[in-house]
Amino acid sequence: MLQPVIAGHKFLGDYASLVGRHLVEEIHALAEPLKGKKILHISATAFGGGVSEILYTLVPLMRDVGLECEWQVIYGREEFYNATKLMHNALQGAPEDLSEEQWSTWARYNEMNARELAGGWDACVVHDPQPAALFGLVPEKSRAWVWRCHIDLSTPNPATIEHLLPYIAPYPATVFHMPQYVPAGLQGKVHIVPPAIDPLAPKNMAFSPEDAIYICEQFGVDVDRPLICQVSRFDPWKDPVGVIDAYRIVKEQRPDVQLALVGSMASDDPEGWDYFNATVAHADGDPDIHILNNFNNVGAIEVNAFQSHSDVVIQKSTREGFGLTVSEAIWKGRPFVGGDVGGIPLQVKDGESGYLVSTVDECADRTLRVLQDPQLGKELGRRGKEHVRRNFLMPRLLRDWLRIFTEQLGG
Ligand code: UDP
Repeated sequence: MLQPVIAGHKFLGDYASLVGRHLVEEIHALAEPLKGKKILHISATAFGGGVSEILYTLVPLMRDVGLECEWQVIYGREEFYNATKLMHNALQGAPEDLSEEQWSTWARYNEMNARELAGGWDACVVHDPQPAALFGLVPEKSRAWVWRCHIDLSTPNPATIEHLLPYIAPYPATVFHMPQYVPAGLQGKVHIVPPAIDPLAPKNMAFSPEDAIYICEQFGVDVDRPLICQVSRFDPWKDPVGVIDAYRIVKEQRPDVQLALVGSMASDDPEGWDYFNATVAHADGDPDIHILNNFNNVGAIEVNAFQSHSDVVIQKSTREGFGLTVSEAIWKGRPFVGGDVGGIPLQVKDGESGYLVSTVDECADRTLRVLQDPQLGKELGRRGKEHVRRNFLMPRLLRDWLRIFTEQLGG
């Protein structure tokens, strides 16, 4: 019932010129004693959102350095995803907790998946809350267990975290993006490891300006006028409606500006379509607002093109576990304006490599500043890219995982 995901092939050596030989050598040294270890990543979906984005690169790179690494997606149906989406929101601070019935739906699907899970792993890495109960149900199926949290747990709904804690607290190891996200009461070893992007994936590989223009034009963008864009799921925490409001303020002074909102719809995100429709309604037919999603055939290459071609990339989140889109945009050397929340300040230094904002007005103001002064935008982008190169490219994350496996498996 758990579905294996085929993640393709990637080669660590291809990254050496970007991250430096020193890191590549460190990775090989760490991997040597772990060769042949059976590692399983378990997640809720193979499509949409940051977790799958990371695993499509991390899993092949783990294999390339000698681990027997697999990725499987748990079985779930709509009732399960409704419950886990509510859980996700509540854990990021939304007031509504799951009903008793929804908690038992969540537990029931975890029991089903636990039964079906094959045994014999050296390490199971369980991603996010959806499959979090697995360890408690079948601890004997793996030697080591790690719970990897990708969300912002800094101000969770108290009832929800209290209910979840007995499932995550006993994990021998847990991994969070930032210290602020670590809940009290964990019994295992806690690791702080931010995620990373794949600079060689189609989404992030270097495009010529002409290629980016060619693709953006196909979606109706006037490439001779300024473009601002946000790439994100249609989700209240990503605040696409606030982005439209900021765009309208910018447009008062720069009537030529256009906005692209690009958002993939995840298969485990039933709320997404409602919020997508609300965003379209808020745009109110403005021909300079382009709202696109994967059902318009917008995939990785198109996301790359929009990010590469934009004069300002925005991520106006009000909660953000990390925000891969931030490093993705900055890696393209684009000036960035985004919410001063969650993992975004890790990736951007305000005023140095972009701007951090807390309101619609600030977002509009900083965006205008960059639009009026393209040289400023170039400098912000250049400094930002170097910060991402040093800290947020996938080989660094691979190294951090190898350290965790070494610790958990004793080399
Ligand atoms: N993404 C995409 N197409 C879209 C919207 C998002 O490919 O239309 C990708 C985006 O490029 C990023 C990931 O989905 O790699 C979202 O990760 P992030 O950490 O920004 O947010 P999450 O969705 O996990 O909250």
